[in-house]
Amino acid sequence: MISRHVFKVYVVDKLSTFFDIPSDGEAKELYELFKNTNEPVMFRATEILTKKHRYKSFPLPAEFDSAIQEAREEHTRDSIDPDIPRENCYVCYGMGIQTKERNGRKVAVPCGCSAGKIIAKAWAEYDMSRRRRI
Ligand SMILES: [Zn+2]
Repeated sequence: MISRHVFKVYVVDKLSTFFDIPSDGEAKELYELFKNTNEPVMFRATEILTKKHRYKSFPLPAEFDSAIQEAREEHTRDSIDPDIPRENCYVCYGMGIQTKERNGRKVAVPCGCSAGKIIAKAWAEYDMSRRRRI
């Protein structure tokens, strides 16, 4: 979950430098709607909005929604990109784990970067030793 502070500074304030400043009520509504978005996805969606939103008015929730969708698709593509050094990984910030939606549930999966590969290997070994069924 994105903190109120991060959402204000990196999403609302950033967009307010390009567009009209939203009212407190509007900003609060946006936070409630999108606070569960994965942080890197939200930051990318913010960038997409700065490029695609063509009006002076602050982007509408529906526009946020489609920008998040677009960012999420990019994110899924990028995260299977191999050989990203962990320190350059903006998906997991070097943690090696990212969350993905699977059948409507959030699950932790290894990231595609070098840190993620170490975790994937450790998890595979653990699964083998437990003979766990997935
Ligand atoms: Zn990563």
